[in-house]
This record gives sequence, structure tokens and C-alpha cells, in this order.
Amino acid sequence: MRLLVATQNEFKKKEIHAILDGQFEVISLKDLNDTDDVSETGDTFFENALLKASYFAKKHQMLTIADDSGLCVAALNGAPGIFSARYSGLGDQGNIDLLLDELSGISYRNAYFISVVVLYDPKTDTYQTFKGEVHGEITHERKGNNGFGYDPIFYIPSLEKTMAEIEPTLKNRMSHRALALASLKEALK
Ligand code: IMP
Repeated sequence: MRLLVATQNEFKKKEIHAILDGQFEVISLKDLNDTDDVSETGDTFFENALLKASYFAKKHQMLTIADDSGLCVAALNGAPGIFSARYSGLGDQGNIDLLLDELSGISYRNAYFISVVVLYDPKTDTYQTFKGEVHGEITHERKGNNGFGYDPIFYIPSLEKTMAEIEPTLKNRMSHRALALASLKEALK
């Protein structure tokens, strides 16, 4: 089965390819030379994922998945949330610096990564939604070199490591995106 993965984020694309590889013929926007970006104007992860999935599914007339994901920090009322990518306006390192600043002096550091995946079928104009979460804590400093985004400051107590310290193969089995995509794979069987 051919599946278009609608993301311009190279890291995510690699992760999603690795997770879905084998079961699907995964096509990316890059394979289609499509550099279009859809503005994330929704108020929720779900709305943003649906905007992206439906746009590219209709444009290319292919079964398409899009994910919207981010980090929600309890002590900050769920921020950065849907604004995770553009939190500081200064990229991944600026985002980490801002988050550590916002949490300085706060000991309650529970947080979770969430991924909402929408699978859109342009033939029937219908969609299905899948969700995955990983719970952990925000550290006080960066640790690890793998991954991207907030990985170096996201600590997973059961593994005693940050998301940036775990091997990519393990991240591809237990990440929020992996969990959402596992239920998508199950539904498509
Ligand atoms: P999106 O591309 O609009 O879904 O934004 C996702 C943003 O959330 C990314 O730019 C990262 O800042 C953050 N994020 C999502 N997934 C991860 C992850 O697996 N590790 C670290 N940060 C992530």
C-alpha cells in the first residue's frame, strides 16, 4: 500500500519512514518535489494534523498521513503545546533555553510529548485519528546528542535517560509518534 507522509521536517520524516518501513511503500513530499507548507492555524494538535493531511491527500490524490506533535508541560498549563516548534522563534536551541528559563525555580517538571496522526483518504473524504503520548520530566540541563527538538531536556524515568540519550531504534519503538503509528498500523491491517 502506498502512503504519503506529509511533513517537511527531515527528522520526523526519517522517524516515520523507519517506523512504517516494510509494511507500506512510504512516499514523502520530497519524493514528489512538493515544497508546499500548510500553515498550522488550528487550535489543537488534531486540527493542525487534519489541515495538513487533507491538503496533501487532495492535492496528490493519495492516502496521506500527517502528524502534529509537541511538548506539553504541566506547570506551564500545557505550553508550549501546539506552539512547540515556534515557541521562542529561535529554533530548537532557543526553544530549550526559553523552556528552561520559564521553569527556573519550579520543581514540578512533569511533561509529555504528544503526537496526533491523521490518516486521510481523498477517495472517500474521510479520515481516522491516532494518538500517542510519552510521559516524563523536564531536566535542568541538556543531556544526549540524539534526536531533535526538546529531546535533550526530556527525561524518561523508567529508562533513566533523556530522549536524546536513547538509541534511535529504541526511540522509534517507544516515542509518541511510534505509539500513534503503531495504532495506525494496527487499524490498517
Ligand atoms: P510540528 O512539526 O508542528 O508537529 O512541531 C513539532 C515540534 O514539537 C517540533 O519542532 C519539536 O520542537 C517538538 N517535538 C515534536 N516531536 C518531538 C520529538 O520527538 N522530540 C523532540 N521534540 C519534538
